[in-house]
Amino acid sequence: MRIVVPRETAPDERRVAMAPGIVKRLVAGGASVAVESSAGLGASFTDDEYREAGADIVADSSDLFRSADVVGKINMPGVRDDGFDEIAAMPSGAVCIGMLQPYGNAPALTRLAEQGVTAVALELVPRTTKAQRMDALSAFSTIAGYAGVIRGADELGKFFPMLTTAAGTIAPSRVFVLGAGVAGLQAIATARRLGAVVEAFDIRPVVKEQVESLGARFVDWTDSDSERETEGGYAKETTEAEQEQIRQLLSDRIAASDLVITTALVPGRPAPKLITEDMVRGMRAGSVIVDFAAEAGGNCELTVAGETVREHGVSIMGPLDLAAALPVHGSEMYGRILAALIDHASNEEGAIEVDLDDPILDECVVTHGGKVRFEA
Ligand code: NAD
Repeated sequence: MRIVVPRETAPDERRVAMAPGIVKRLVAGGASVAVESSAGLGASFTDDEYREAGADIVADSSDLFRSADVVGKINMPGVRDDGFDEIAAMPSGAVCIGMLQPYGNAPALTRLAEQGVTAVALELVPRTTKAQRMDALSAFSTIAGYAGVIRGADELGKFFPMLTTAAGTIAPSRVFVLGAGVAGLQAIATARRLGAVVEAFDIRPVVKEQVESLGARFVDWTDSDSERETEGGYAKETTEAEQEQIRQLLSDRIAASDLVITTALVPGRPAPKLITEDMVRGMRAGSVIVDFAAEAGGNCELTVAGETVREHGVSIMGPLDLAAALPVHGSEMYGRILAALIDHASNEEGAIEVDLDDPILDECVVTHGGKVRFEA
């Protein structure tokens, strides 16, 4: 099996689909791995490190793609600035694995299908115990949760921890995390490690225990924990009446916070608007909001995707690159996830063989046999 790792070409992307460590393990297991020259530089992995790990370094993009049984990408393949068409360069029958953003990428999925490529969208790997080691969303959410708090802390003109100094006592900062999924829980843990007093809210009361085990207070909004999540464990959309009830509860918690982190998402839907302009007006000047949901429309009414805006004395950050932060660890984690998926989809002879009767592959294979098998 020939696994090919091209360089990523999305703007500001510093990650690469495999770090040298996992390449070494795959090569030791009998795979052949080819890495496009300079592919790892953004994450500070040199061609020499990949060579030492047993990879072939390939400078010619056409040669690289043409030789692939498996293409390991982070972002959806496409047409590069120099006109090189990554999808057209893949051989029919190749398996392309990546964060393909299947919800917004119907034309690219059609092209992959027409090319005869089997495409695997890692976002669609089910969130089950068996599929845990293939869960790229959780890996990148963990990174986002950490990076978002660090960025928010940097924007805030205050310490996080309580300090007793010769120049006086400093009260700890108050952090409020809305949405306690994987990113939110990591944000809570990071803010706690930095010494802040942390509160959290989620539409799914089942997360209360997890929030409390991290040393944060859970802001309860209902006694009933039924019917708030889908069978897959994701949040359901809230009704207008529920949203009003929540808005009233959240208003005073937000007003009391120095840093508000919002991570509330409902898969495939616009992000719920949890913070109104009025709530921002109620915050102390100098406070900060980091809106992790900016890409899905934002959890705050004033969020501008990709920018930091200052309104009513509050900084509202809408970063789009949190999951792509920490390119070294991000690439290392992602490579292990790719390797786990390749291993899962391989037969006893070590060749990749996509079995659509497999419950994990059935969910995440989005093109196969010339057809798109995902409703975007
Ligand atoms: P997500 O990114 O889809 O959403 C983030 C959080 O926002 C969720 O906790 C959600 O409940 C919350 N949210 C949605 N609407 C909201 C609203 N109106 N107000 C407040 N909060 C709101 O979530 P995720 O991090 O991908 O996790 C989704 C689920 O998958 C969780 O139950 C998680 O525990 C589970 N999970 C399971 C596994 C596994 O078993 N392998 C791995 C990872 C995650």
